[in-house]
Amino acid sequence: MKKIFLHEAVQVVLSDKTGGVSEGAYKSLNLGLHVGDKPLSVEKNREIFASYFGVSANELCFMEQVHGSFASVAKKGETLKADALITREKNLVLCVMVADCAPVILYDNDKKAVAAVHAGRKGIFSGIIANTVSAMQREFGSEPKNMRSYIGVSIRSCCYEIRGEVLSEAAERFAYAVESRNGRHFLSLHTILKKQLYKSGVKDIIDDKICACCDENYFSYRREGACGRFGAGVKIL
Ligand SMILES: [Zn+2]
Repeated sequence: MKKIFLHEAVQVVLSDKTGGVSEGAYKSLNLGLHVGDKPLSVEKNREIFASYFGVSANELCFMEQVHGSFASVAKKGETLKADALITREKNLVLCVMVADCAPVILYDNDKKAVAAVHAGRKGIFSGIIANTVSAMQREFGSEPKNMRSYIGVSIRSCCYEIRGEVLSEAAERFAYAVESRNGRHFLSLHTILKKQLYKSGVKDIIDDKICACCDENYFSYRREGACGRFGAGVKIL
C-alpha cells in the first residue's frame, strides 16, 4: 500500500498484493469480487482497504467495470456499470480495480471534486479520459486547468506486446505510442494517457512508472492469467 500525494485536501491510496486474506492465485489483497475468489475473503480485503482511509467498507464505492467509456456520478451503496466514477461527496471513497489496466485518479482542487478511472486499452481507445473530464465539467463546473492527475501502476511498454487487430488499430490511431523491438510491437498506454489528459486540459500529471507485469508486488493479468485485482481509491478530506 502506498499513499500518493495529489494535494493536502485529498487522499489517494494505491494497494498492492500484500496485507490481505485471500489465498492461491488471489493472494492476498484481492479487491475483485468478479475474478473467482471467495466473496468472504474479498469482503475482508475491502475492509482492510477501507481501513487505509480510516473508513468502513460501506463507504467504498466500486463500479462494475466493463472496459467502456462511460463516466458516472457515484452513488453510495450502488455498484454502477461504468469505467469512471466522479463525486464531490466527502463520505465516499471512489475505487478502481486493476490488474494491468491503469488506475487513474483526477482531483479538481478548485471545486473539490474527484474521479477514479479504469483506464485499460479499450477504455483509453474509446475516450474514457475525455469523457471523465467532461463529466466533471458538466456535473461540477470543474475546469481542467485546476485538475491534478495520477496514473497508477499498470502494464508498461516493456511488457505490453500487441499484435493483430489491436496492433493495426494502435498503429493507425496511436503510432506515437507503438514501440517496435526485434520485430515485436509494444504499446505504451501511459504515453497515450498522458497525451489524452494533456489534450483535455489536465497538465498536472503524476505517473507512477511501475509496471504491474514486471513488479510481482502487483497483480498482472498478462503475467499471471487468473489473478486478483489491486486498486486505487480517492477520498476528499
Ligand atoms: Zn514490464
